[in-house]
Amino acid sequence: MGIKLKNQKGAIAMKCISCGAGTSIGITNDVTELEGCLIIVRNVPCHKCSECDEIIYTADVVKHLEVITTAAKMTVNEIAILDYSSKVA
Ligand SMILES: [Zn+2]
Repeated sequence: MGIKLKNQKGAIAMKCISCGAGTSIGITNDVTELEGCLIIVRNVPCHKCSECDEIIYTADVVKHLEVITTAAKMTVNEIAILDYSSKVA
Protein backbone atom coordinates (compact mmCIF):
# COMPACT_ATOMS: atom_id res chain seq x y z
CA MET A 1 0.00 0.00 0.00
CA GLY A 2 1.10 3.53 -0.68
CA ILE A 3 1.48 6.26 1.86
CA LYS A 4 -1.80 8.00 2.52
CA LEU A 5 -1.88 11.75 2.82
CA LYS A 6 -4.99 13.80 3.29
CA ASN A 7 -5.07 17.02 1.34
CA GLN A 8 -7.11 20.08 2.18
CA LYS A 9 -10.15 18.85 0.32
CA GLY A 10 -10.22 15.65 2.35
CA ALA A 11 -9.40 13.40 -0.59
CA ILE A 12 -6.62 10.90 -0.14
CA ALA A 13 -3.49 11.46 -2.19
CA MET A 14 -1.39 8.36 -2.69
CA LYS A 15 2.31 8.09 -3.41
CA CYS A 16 3.67 5.54 -5.83
CA ILE A 17 4.90 2.40 -4.10
CA SER A 18 7.59 1.92 -6.75
CA CYS A 19 9.14 5.33 -7.25
CA GLY A 20 7.48 7.61 -4.69
CA ALA A 21 6.13 10.05 -7.26
CA GLY A 22 2.67 11.56 -6.98
CA THR A 23 -0.36 9.77 -8.36
CA SER A 24 -3.58 10.86 -9.94
CA ILE A 25 -6.99 9.26 -9.72
CA GLY A 26 -7.95 7.12 -12.68
CA ILE A 27 -9.78 4.07 -13.89
CA THR A 28 -8.16 0.80 -14.88
CA ASN A 29 -9.00 -2.79 -15.76
CA ASP A 30 -7.81 -5.33 -13.22
CA VAL A 31 -6.78 -8.79 -14.43
CA THR A 32 -6.56 -11.57 -11.87
CA GLU A 33 -5.65 -15.17 -12.43
CA LEU A 34 -7.31 -17.34 -9.84
CA GLU A 35 -6.76 -21.09 -9.91
CA GLY A 36 -6.48 -21.11 -13.70
CA CYS A 37 -9.46 -18.82 -14.17
CA LEU A 38 -8.88 -15.43 -15.73
CA ILE A 39 -10.99 -12.71 -14.15
CA ILE A 40 -11.10 -9.28 -15.70
CA VAL A 41 -12.69 -6.44 -13.79
CA ARG A 42 -13.39 -3.30 -15.75
CA ASN A 43 -13.67 0.29 -14.57
CA VAL A 44 -11.74 -0.17 -11.34
CA PRO A 45 -11.02 3.11 -9.56
CA CYS A 46 -7.30 3.44 -8.91
CA HIS A 47 -4.44 5.81 -8.36
CA LYS A 48 -2.00 5.94 -11.23
CA CYS A 49 1.62 7.04 -10.88
CA SER A 50 2.49 10.07 -12.97
CA GLU A 51 6.05 8.78 -13.50
CA CYS A 52 6.01 5.02 -13.98
CA ASP A 53 2.31 4.18 -14.50
CA GLU A 54 2.23 1.97 -11.43
CA ILE A 55 -1.37 1.26 -10.45
CA ILE A 56 -2.27 1.58 -6.77
CA TYR A 57 -5.55 0.49 -5.24
CA THR A 58 -6.95 1.67 -1.95
CA ALA A 59 -7.73 -0.92 0.73
CA ASP A 60 -11.45 -0.62 0.01
CA VAL A 61 -10.93 -1.34 -3.68
CA VAL A 62 -8.69 -4.34 -2.95
CA LYS A 63 -11.37 -5.71 -0.64
CA HIS A 64 -14.14 -5.21 -3.18
CA LEU A 65 -12.06 -6.80 -5.95
CA GLU A 66 -11.49 -9.82 -3.72
CA VAL A 67 -15.22 -10.18 -3.12
CA ILE A 68 -16.26 -9.96 -6.76
CA THR A 69 -13.43 -12.09 -8.13
CA THR A 70 -14.10 -14.79 -5.54
CA ALA A 71 -17.80 -14.73 -6.43
CA ALA A 72 -16.99 -14.89 -10.15
CA LYS A 73 -14.68 -17.87 -9.60
CA MET A 74 -17.61 -19.85 -8.24
CA THR A 75 -19.70 -19.37 -11.36
CA VAL A 76 -17.20 -19.49 -14.24
CA ASN A 77 -14.59 -21.97 -15.40
CA GLU A 78 -12.26 -20.02 -17.63
CA ILE A 79 -12.78 -16.34 -18.21
CA ALA A 80 -14.98 -13.83 -16.43
CA ILE A 81 -15.38 -10.20 -17.38
CA LEU A 82 -17.02 -8.10 -14.72
CA ASP A 83 -17.66 -4.48 -14.05
CA TYR A 84 -16.31 -3.06 -10.80
CA SER A 85 -19.75 -1.71 -9.93
CA SER A 86 -21.45 -5.07 -10.49
CA LYS A 87 -23.38 -6.34 -7.50
CA VAL A 88 -22.47 -9.60 -5.84
CA ALA A 89 -25.48 -11.83 -5.24
ZN1 LIG B 1 5.89 5.43 -9.85
